[in-house]
Amino acid sequence: MSSSPFPLSTEPSDDWRADAACRELDLEVFFAVDEASQLDAVAVCETCPVREPCLEHAITTREQYGVWGGVREQDRKRMVRARRRDAA
Ligand code: SF4
Repeated sequence: MSSSPFPLSTEPSDDWRADAACRELDLEVFFAVDEASQLDAVAVCETCPVREPCLEHAITTREQYGVWGGVREQDRKRMVRARRRDAA
């Protein structure tokens, strides 16, 4: 059994998960609704060596909830909208 907090995937692009700073942590804080907990999650992400691929994964798979790559839901939605505008 894996210690990864995320569901395992067979896709090679998911290799970054093995180095996740959150892999041994309780992920409740990453999916909390209160701002203080979300900021705690962001602080963990700021120490994470795989922040970029994590965020890219969340954006490309349209993750709706949680803190990914140090970016909260509402900020990620803004990033997606900005990308769409830039691509148009
Ligand atoms: S960036 Fe944050 S959510 Fe993503 S793997 Fe690292 S600690 Fe976990």
